[in-house]
Amino acid sequence: MRVITCVFTLHNLWLVALAAVVCVGGGWVALELLRRARARQGVQRAGWLFLAAIAAGASVWCTHFIAMLAYDAQAPVTFDPLLTMISLLLVIGGSLLAFRMGIEGSMSRIGASGAFLGLSIAAMHYAGMTAYHVDGIVDWDGYYVLASVVISAACGAASLVALHKQRRYFGLLMFVAAVVGLHFTGMTAVSVTPFVTGAPLADAAAVAAMAVAVAGVAMLIVATGVASYMIDNDTAEKNVETLRQMALNDALTGLPNRTSYADYLEHELGRARLDGKHVAVIGMDLNNFKEINDLRGHDAGDQALKIIGGRLVSMLRDGEFVARIGGDEFSALKRFTDHRDLLDFVARLERELFASMRIEDFDVVPGASIGVSVFPNDGDTAARLIGNADLAMYRAKGDVTRAVCFYEADMDELARARRNLSLDLRRAIELDQLELHYQVQASVSGKQVLGHEVLLRWKHHERGFIPPAEFIPLAEETGTILVIGEWVLREACSEAAGWTDGGKIAVNISAVQLANADLPRLVHQVLLDTGLPASRLELEITESSIIQDKARSLHALRQIRALGVTIAIDDFGTGYSSLETLRSFPFDRIKLDRSFMTELEHSQQARAIVRAVLALGKSLDISVLAEGVETREQLELLESEGCNEAQGYFLGRPQPRGAVESDAVTVAAVA
Ligand code: C2E
Ligand code: MG
Ligand code: MG
Repeated sequence: MRVITCVFTLHNLWLVALAAVVCVGGGWVALELLRRARARQGVQRAGWLFLAAIAAGASVWCTHFIAMLAYDAQAPVTFDPLLTMISLLLVIGGSLLAFRMGIEGSMSRIGASGAFLGLSIAAMHYAGMTAYHVDGIVDWDGYYVLASVVISAACGAASLVALHKQRRYFGLLMFVAAVVGLHFTGMTAVSVTPFVTGAPLADAAAVAAMAVAVAGVAMLIVATGVASYMIDNDTAEKNVETLRQMALNDALTGLPNRTSYADYLEHELGRARLDGKHVAVIGMDLNNFKEINDLRGHDAGDQALKIIGGRLVSMLRDGEFVARIGGDEFSALKRFTDHRDLLDFVARLERELFASMRIEDFDVVPGASIGVSVFPNDGDTAARLIGNADLAMYRAKGDVTRAVCFYEADMDELARARRNLSLDLRRAIELDQLELHYQVQASVSGKQVLGHEVLLRWKHHERGFIPPAEFIPLAEETGTILVIGEWVLREACSEAAGWTDGGKIAVNISAVQLANADLPRLVHQVLLDTGLPASRLELEITESSIIQDKARSLHALRQIRALGVTIAIDDFGTGYSSLETLRSFPFDRIKLDRSFMTELEHSQQARAIVRAVLALGKSLDISVLAEGVETREQLELLESEGCNEAQGYFLGRPQPRGAVESDAVTVAAVA
């Protein structure tokens, strides 16, 4: 009751209300700043703690000061400036310490920090009271003083604990209770008996003006905290936006990237399924980017991509979209109903991609291959449409006369099948799908086995056996032959090294292997690794593989031959068959192509050629082996022409290693 009486009889209520506004507003901001501090780490946290302490201390001090001005001591009043300053610093410093200690940790620690906050408010209040000089006798009631300190500490503790438990309003209420409870209980503890000195009392209007000014300053300080808070929010939003942009856009060109392209395509397809419109998926691959990069450097390449990106974006119209998918690949989308609109868009894309540009004093034309597929005709899923646009694009790449190809099922499906097969082939080794078969090569007159040709077999997991005539060319196209060829060589040599009969093996070597791999080194290494004597290995080379890069091939063959490995020329009589080849390299064996065998019995020309080749072999001292011997008649004809070596179904079919032992018996029997 005494406290209430004190508030209502000894105070200017307008100013009390002003103090309350400052206290609530400042407290609210201070606690929000404290929450922000808790969400941050390091320097940012320190900054927010500082702002929170300034806002809390300033608003508490101003509340106190305004309330003092509202107090009517009925005697002349002065303020000690130094102590007044000290009281301000006490509460700011105390808040900072309390906030710092209570920002995290156990509840008791947070409670203790809150109590410390209350105590620093009390310290401020009593320091302020010491600075407050009245012309009169001032009496203090110790119980009220104690009560005021206890109230402040308890409410301070409750405030920080509530805040920590996300109960923000209760936290604010307790904060205000700490300030207000302390102040008025503290003021109740004071009783002033004025001296009758006749000195004039302070002018009420001047006091009110002073109080408003103080409140204004308090609000300014608090507003600074609010402003920082808002700036921070905005920056955080902008950061999120920048990160989002970075994730969705390609950093170099600023175009949308693969991820946003995929999102957009899904979105457009969803729309098209509802409204029945068409969506075109357009894949674009630059033709000359590699040259720009290689000849002019990566900066020039980057610049070219930027220019192209800019040009593509600038020609977009409603319903059109362009993205950079990676490297020198771009993709576009268009929603349309009239096919002519699509043609127009593609023509615009083509124009931009073929427009020349100036980079570091050079004029370059990027050029591109463009493939188009259309929803729903060419596929109804994003993956299908992208794949089909790519197939069309590959076709455009292979066609010098056209830059743009539209997906056409009958043409592109063949390419797809080949592509899938080549992907499967890459994995064939790890999946253990490759197998070697051996076909006997025999000397007819001597009734003896000369050796075995190694023939590769691929057992595809879905399609069963795929003949080498189908997959070897594919492997050569994609370069997979290098891996596969090495596997064959290694496998065959290590297998043959274990044979007790000491027979020879003949391994087919592709033109690509001869041209690309360091074949002599590989052969040498494999012989070392497997322990197969070089004299037991023969390599079969087709003539076409020598023609491609003659000097290099012959050099490699000489090195291999120097190891002691023999070299046979395969499929002789087909393709080039120039005498020059025979002259330029001392082959150990000529393998007469099997196409002659079928004709041998009926065609005089075939016989004449076989005879000529045999004569050639004799004079050059190269043995001749006839391939594809299927009948006794053929064998006898060959014998009569003086051909001594043969290979074919009649002598033995290609078979797995386990069955090969019987070959010697077969050969002896049939010959
Ligand atoms: P090639 O080197 O001329 O092999 C002989 C081919 O003729 C084999 O076919 C063999 O099965 C077949 N053949 C053997 N005797 C007869 C016969 O009496 N009648 C008929 N009609 N055919 C007979 P295959 O195994 O299908 O191989 C085809 C071609 O694939 C081979 O022709 C060879 O160029 C290539 N090839 C096979 N394995 C490999 C390999 O490991 N590496 C490389 N680079 N090419 C290989
Ligand atoms: Mg062969
Ligand atoms: Mg052959």
